Amino acid sequence: MPLSRDKRIEQLAQKSQQWEAIVIGGGASGIASALDLASRGIKTLLLESHDFTSETSSRSTKLIHGGVRYLEQGHFGLVKEALRERKLLLLNAGEIITPLPFFIPTKGMRDSFYYRAGLKAYDLLARNETLPPSSFRKQSEIEKFLPHLSPEHQRQGVSYWDAQFDDCELALAMVRTFESLGGLALNYSPVTELIHNSRGQLTGLITQPKGKAPISLGSQTFINATGPFSDKLRQQDNPKTSPRIITSRGSHLVFPAALLGAQHALLIPKTKDGRVLFAVPWKGVTLLGTTDIPIAEATRDPQPSAQEVDFILNEARPYLPVDQHEILASFAGFRPLVKRHAHQKSARISRSHLIEKSPSGMISLMGGKWTTARQMGEEVGDQISDMLQYKKPSQTATLPLLTHPGFYQQKALSWSKKARWAIENDHALTVEDFIARRTRLSFLDSQQAQLVQKEVSSLFL
Ligand SMILES: Cc1cc2nc3c(=O)[nH]c(=O)nc-3n(C[C@H](O)[C@H](O)[C@H](O)COP(=O)(O)OP(=O)(O)OC[C@H]3O[C@@H](n4cnc5c(N)ncnc54)[C@H](O)[C@@H]3O)c2cc1C
Repeated sequence: MPLSRDKRIEQLAQKSQQWEAIVIGGGASGIASALDLASRGIKTLLLESHDFTSETSSRSTKLIHGGVRYLEQGHFGLVKEALRERKLLLLNAGEIITPLPFFIPTKGMRDSFYYRAGLKAYDLLARNETLPPSSFRKQSEIEKFLPHLSPEHQRQGVSYWDAQFDDCELALAMVRTFESLGGLALNYSPVTELIHNSRGQLTGLITQPKGKAPISLGSQTFINATGPFSDKLRQQDNPKTSPRIITSRGSHLVFPAALLGAQHALLIPKTKDGRVLFAVPWKGVTLLGTTDIPIAEATRDPQPSAQEVDFILNEARPYLPVDQHEILASFAGFRPLVKRHAHQKSARISRSHLIEKSPSGMISLMGGKWTTARQMGEEVGDQISDMLQYKKPSQTATLPLLTHPGFYQQKALSWSKKARWAIENDHALTVEDFIARRTRLSFLDSQQAQLVQKEVSSLFL
């Protein structure tokens, strides 16, 4: 039986001086780090300022993928690592990670061979995989699996396989597993201050759970996993440190499933800004995105700009019958990209991650992808284990996750019954937690989200 929020806060105060690790930030990076640490038997606390995955980690394209386009940029190591992680996720959470075929339309034989060769390399890097290999596709096949693709692009192309997921569902499964291993996870508990001793070592922090008094906590180690907000904490820890994070906004538009008319995703190669655009079937809708807009500083809850909406529509129009009036919802997130040296541009920055140890001992985990979060967590776990002189290795590569597949999609359960369950079992505190990240309604259909919000709002704070 999961603990109530009051019990969690009680435990937080009781254990105040006993933590071996405190992870700050409850997105993919923080949750994966906390899970890794708990899997080694390290006493770990996970603190999130708002809801788990309320920032970047709920706003992804929902792909568990090697990243075909990173091959083109020569990032073979990153692709290989992500393909290995794709395999592990299919093994450890296969009920909520779904294999998905993708189609790349090509023009002429040269184009086809170029993509075929690239995808052969993708197949080779994914060796021992359970997913089918890539293949050439004929017009008659393409017409069947992507019936609404414009006839001009149905002539030829290449198919390959990746996987998709619900980013919030995976995060909650990881939080559940973390708690089952003895960890304590608390959302709506921002870290407001870091405490250093006279030698400059980080020894504690202050957090304030929503509606409660501030609590001072001590720990032997600290992990900063605050994604696009990482520099803020890094500079609180060490005012002299230079910023590392470049934020880039990525936006998606949500259309009815009929836009694709199939359970097959489309990769539109070569957008005007030299990137790719995905059209992906997901939970009964079609997701179309994404963009890459450099932003000076991350703010909470970003939204797509009018220019991004136009960009996505214009890029998709030659391929699919997109109509602005049919947009059901939209969402945007900030990529926390890591600058390795000054003046790097966001599209060119590698999606690989960086782990940094500050002079005070704080570990910052920055960058990366949802797909590689487990590996990132394991690397953090290795560093923390060294600091604590712990011997037990990470267990997460073979750790089945505690999933509740499709719970919030069940038609037989009323919205109020699901809302009560979310409050009691899944850390939901506000109606937005339920609408946006448990049921995903705000990401699927904003009108329906408003109706359900009215129906259940009295159950929440
Ligand atoms: C548009 C887009 C599409 C993407 N698509 C994919 C994809 O399909 N597949 C894939 O593998 N990856 C994808 N990614 C990458 C992936 O989503 C990110 O790498 C990942 O979600 C980053 O997680 P994070 O934990 O580092 O950051 P976040 O999710 O932003 O988490 C940081 C957390 O820290 C919290 N926080 C901040 N300050 C404090 C504080 N003081 N105290 C406590 N908590 C605090 C925040 O509230 C936040 O929840 C995509 C990214 C974007 C932007």
